[in-house]
Amino acid sequence: MEIHTDTELKTMTTEEREAYFDRQVNWVVAYAYKNSPAMRDKLEKAGIEPDQIRGVKDLEKIPITKKEDLIALQKIAPPFGDLLGVAPDDIRSIFISPGPVYDAVGDETYARVARIFRTVGFKKGDIVLNTFAYHLVPAGLMMHEAFSSFGVKVLPTGVGNTELQVQIMHDLNVTGYVGTPSFLMNLIKKAEELGYDFKRDFSIKLAFVGAEMFPDSMRHIFEHMYGITCSQTYGIADIGLLGCECVEKSGFHIPEELFVEIVDPMTGKQLEPGQIGEVVVTPFEKTRPVIRYGTGDLSLFTDELCACGQKSRRLLRIAGRVGDLVKVRGMFIIPKELSDALQQYPQVMSYQAVVRREGHRDDLTLKIELESDDVNREKLSEDILQAVSTACRVKFDKVEWVGKGTIPEDRKIVLDERTWE
Ligand SMILES: [Zn+2]
Repeated sequence: MEIHTDTELKTMTTEEREAYFDRQVNWVVAYAYKNSPAMRDKLEKAGIEPDQIRGVKDLEKIPITKKEDLIALQKIAPPFGDLLGVAPDDIRSIFISPGPVYDAVGDETYARVARIFRTVGFKKGDIVLNTFAYHLVPAGLMMHEAFSSFGVKVLPTGVGNTELQVQIMHDLNVTGYVGTPSFLMNLIKKAEELGYDFKRDFSIKLAFVGAEMFPDSMRHIFEHMYGITCSQTYGIADIGLLGCECVEKSGFHIPEELFVEIVDPMTGKQLEPGQIGEVVVTPFEKTRPVIRYGTGDLSLFTDELCACGQKSRRLLRIAGRVGDLVKVRGMFIIPKELSDALQQYPQVMSYQAVVRREGHRDDLTLKIELESDDVNREKLSEDILQAVSTACRVKFDKVEWVGKGTIPEDRKIVLDERTWE
């Protein structure tokens, strides 16, 4: 395993970066084969010798491991599912993720998270309010330890007790916040309720937010009204942080201590920049070297250089979950893309895409409930079909107008009614 400084990672050329990732992939597969019985078993079952995996492209040959697989492995060989690549005494922490999955974590994970924090702008001397939970989930303690490793003081406050937290922020001159964006908003509102002028009376300048949607409108309020720079993060319970935004807010920079592929969820094949697929991650670590962990999240990446100067691959956004995907005529329809396209039509009250099989062809119909009948349906239908077909890159066949209340509130945005007998 190679460890590089922030500067080294920043100054590598494209070719050096590619060679670096190839070497790391080659190393971690060989390491896992030798030291992690579960991973060796997975490779053997797939008929793969570690020397066949010479780099990033060869990862495609290795089957993806999902959360269900971790749970199953731990049932067979409790508590860690024979996944460890080190002796149990060398584990630094054990986290519990939903499942439950027992996630053994080593120093490498903390080092990775600490480097992400430094990249974002946290520094020695900062005092941070950590409102992520410490109990039965990894987030709170993981971040706490990573901060402590480079001299940031962490206040483990969790959520709730807003009045007390406002006082703590004020008394201790807290400079940073970690948690959900909505709870930060609660704290600010509480401070205002108590008569404070947030920008004048508090020192919070940097917020590391995640675990829920973070709309641009909310970011705008934090940054412009309260002077708090926000860095949004993307992470998953079983592996930890997989990326975070830089000052450019142009996607999630992926740390160099792991490799992220975007793959076709059906075939596991790697996709090109800009194509939406499943986020699959291979952390370069000894403690629990899971090769090709399928997160179930959908995203797309770019390798273009970011204006901030970091050269890492970026995930542009999280586009939903693999389970929400429906493939129509060879293209995945992503519910969020459909929803985004329909947002510009206030006349549309509710909608649902329905896929049916007609002969040997997929028929794609968009059911729509209208706010009122006072519209030119022909024109609207033409416009909408054009908009959704462009957004989803697959042609919608027709609009079907349905009466108010026909589409259930808890509907699937894309309903697959095809039968294949
Ligand atoms: Zn950047």
